[in-house]
Formats: sequence, C-alpha cells, structure tokens
Amino acid sequence: MILSMLLWGCAVTRHPTETFAPASAQDRDAVDWAAVLDNPTPISVEHILSADTVGKTEGLVNLDHPDAQAAGLEKGEQPIVIAAHLLRHPEHGTFLFDSGVATDADGRLVAGGLVRKGFPVDIKRTTDTLGEIDGVFISHMHIDHVLGLSGVPDATVYTGPGEAAAKRGGNALLRRTIDMQLGERGPIQEIDFSGGNAADVFGDGSLWALHVPGHTPGSVAYLVNAADGPVLLVGDACHTTWGWENSVEPGHYSSDIPQSVGQLDWLIALTEAHPQISVAVGHNLPPIAGEAPPADAHTQHVHEGAMQHRFDDVEHWAQRFDAPERDAWQKPAALVEALGIEEGQAVADIGAGTGYFLPHLAAAVGASGTVYAVDVEPSMVNHMTRRAHQAGLMQVQALLGEFDDPKLAAESTDLLLMVNTYHHVSERVAYFSNLRAAARPGGRLVIVDFTLDTERGPPPAHRLSPETVTAELSEAGWTPAGALDILDDQYVLIFE
Ligand SMILES: [Zn+2]
Ligand SMILES: [Zn+2]
Repeated sequence: MILSMLLWGCAVTRHPTETFAPASAQDRDAVDWAAVLDNPTPISVEHILSADTVGKTEGLVNLDHPDAQAAGLEKGEQPIVIAAHLLRHPEHGTFLFDSGVATDADGRLVAGGLVRKGFPVDIKRTTDTLGEIDGVFISHMHIDHVLGLSGVPDATVYTGPGEAAAKRGGNALLRRTIDMQLGERGPIQEIDFSGGNAADVFGDGSLWALHVPGHTPGSVAYLVNAADGPVLLVGDACHTTWGWENSVEPGHYSSDIPQSVGQLDWLIALTEAHPQISVAVGHNLPPIAGEAPPADAHTQHVHEGAMQHRFDDVEHWAQRFDAPERDAWQKPAALVEALGIEEGQAVADIGAGTGYFLPHLAAAVGASGTVYAVDVEPSMVNHMTRRAHQAGLMQVQALLGEFDDPKLAAESTDLLLMVNTYHHVSERVAYFSNLRAAARPGGRLVIVDFTLDTERGPPPAHRLSPETVTAELSEAGWTPAGALDILDDQYVLIFE
C-alpha cells in the first residue's frame, strides 16, 4: 500500500517542457488525405531494428477482446522489437521516430539498475550509429520508446501534449532512467494540437503528427508522405502486427483502453481508404518488400578499384541479390552442402549483402551453431538482422564490418565464406593475413567468385583468376586445400 502510494502521482519526468507550434493543424477528418497522398514529398523512412526483447501478451493486445479470445490468445510472453525509424528530410534535417536503444561505454543500456534487470534486451543497433540526428519524434514517453535518447544527446525531443507530466504508477522507478536519457538537452517540445488533431509539422505535407490519445494521453502517430510511398508510424496505438490485422487494441499497457479503440479504428480506416500506405506498428517490424524482377548483381556495380562503392539502397540490392533466378546458377543449397559444414559449427559469410546465403548456412549449422553475417553497409546489416528475425533464424548474427576488417572475434569461426566479394577487397594480402586470427584451429576459408570467361559477373577487368587468388592467399598465410567443381560461372577455392 505504501509502495503503491509512493508510485502513484509521480510525473514521467521533471525535464522542462515547451509548447511546440506545428506549421499548421486541423481536424484529421477535415484533411483531404487523397490530395495529400497524391503529392508525395522528398522525405524518406528507414526502419531500424534496435533491439529484440519480450512483452507480455496481455499488455500488447487486449485479451478481453472477443477476437483475441476467439484466436485463443493467452497470457504469456512473446518476442517483440524495439525499433527506431530514420526520417530524412532534405530541407528540415534528419529525425528519428521513436528512439530505439543506446548503450554506455560498457555496451549496457543507459538505465537504472532495476530497469536494466527488468528489461532483457538483445541489442542489435544503437541510436548513436545512425549519424547526425536533429530531432526525435517520440510516439509517447513509455520507457521502451526513450531508451535511445542518450545516444543523440543534442537532438530536440518532440512529444504529444502532457506526456512529460502524465502520472502513472511506476514512474518513481522509471524517472531516473528517463531523466538520464533526456540528459542536458533543451526543453521537450510538446506538440500543440489545439488547432486540430492532425498537424502538418513542417507545413509542406511531408510529416503529419496525429494525436491518438488512449495508450497514453499524449500518444502521437505519424504519417510520413514519403517519395517512395506513404508510411504510417503507428507507435503504441497498436503494438503488434496481429493486433493491427485483427483491429484489436493494446491491453493493459494502455492507460485508457476504451479511448484507444476509437483511435486505432481511425488509423486502420485511413489505411483501408488509402491502401498505398504501408504501416509500422509499435513493436513488430514491417515485412520486407517482395522480390522483384531479376538482374545480375554486378551489372550495376560501380567499381572504383576496390570496396569503395556502397550498397546503401537495400531494396534495390535485395531485388538483385535475392532474385529467385539466382538460385539456378548460384546453387546455394548444393554449394553449402558440398562444404560439409557440421551442426554446431560457427560460419561467417563475409560480404553477406542482403543475406542470400543465410537460410542455407543456418540450416547447415543448426540451432546450436552460429552464422555471422558480415557486411560493411549498415543498411544491409540492418536488413539481415530483420530478415533473420522474421525467419526465426536465432543463430544468425549480422555484424557491421569495416572495409579493412570484418570485425570477427579471434578463433570465432570454423568456416569463412566469401561469395562474389573477394574482388572488392583492396589490400587483400593484409586483409586475409589478419583474417587468419578469426579462424579456429582447422578452420577453412572458401572463396567463390566469377571465372574469367563466364558471361555472368562483373566486367572482366574486375575479375581475378583462381591462380591469382591462390597466389595472394598463399602469401597471406593460407594453404590451398582443394576446389569444388559444382558451379558453372564461379570457382570455389578452399584454403586452410
Ligand atoms: Zn507504450
Ligand atoms: Zn512500447
């Protein structure tokens, strides 16, 4: 009783607040959404998987809802994500929607000890790796939405009205963490919705703040009128894809469930009226876009002598690297089988790109093994993390490598695989000499790359003969240990 009295009546934070006036605001039902969406703006959205965690099913969806009961949903825990969404506006700057997580120098959550204990997270990508961030639009000030603010200490924080002052049980425990996250930055900017519950934040129709009270009094969803298609960032007006698809509102994580119902219904109706809107709910990531017509991955490479070109358009490269037609000549299943990988082993795919080989490698090492999926491009790493998460491949770890260092731990792998990547490495002898440290005793290095005479692959000038590869790797300290003759367009060289 005393504890509950202590916990009750406490504001979320004592951080100062100011009222933020959006460029304009009106009632959401008075907005001509079809006209808005007919005029996409040069803003972009990138979804970031910041951490995996778990949530209580009864908090995430209202188990009293008849559809939840009909579906047989029960109390328990389920995997969810903590996400951040990167918004790039060519004039107004770079922003986040929700903050993901940030870590301290020891790689731990920036939080009080109790919060840390009560919050098991598997951190995938921290907010401080996302580059310069001007501001963070927070859906609401529940703790799992502010855990990345400390990674962007100078960014302006925008919330809905009354979020900082909201009184909730548990605030006494959480406030220290929230204050740590807010740090020394300027006042929280509370969006003024007095002109209407749909605010055109910048006044150019690019970013719409939608006040959707219910989950918390100041909850805000955002409609991003992006150049490559509008995206609705729902926040915790809906936590899960299941809840969205079944129109079932969040459960006891919400402060006012009845109020939240009408808000969720309105958001769903908006996307039904305008099906071109894609949706990101609060705690699941959107599915990966479908595969599209094939092309050879290399036809669009911009070779500048080495790995200098960047693959930062994931959708573009996903279409190319993952084209179903690639299977016919790349034969990923046959190749992986021929490598004789054993269950429980650790393998690394260096230059893994969109993660084309991951399902095959994961199957080979089994649940007890490990697949390190290394790429130098953060968006690829993020993509692979999401892909593995969605496919339930818990043994896959996507890692951000550097151009001169794949960042693998010493003696961490039984097999290092490099497909169509060798010719991108610039200082090869040094690179592969250093790479020996990552191999366990008896560990193998497998190079798969295009032959000089095949019609597939990069321009001939960028190709390397198997003899050159063997000579370079011998100089780097690797011993040739055979070759596999199973692919028509590529050689497969094995080294120990
Ligand atoms: Zn919440
Ligand atoms: Zn949440």
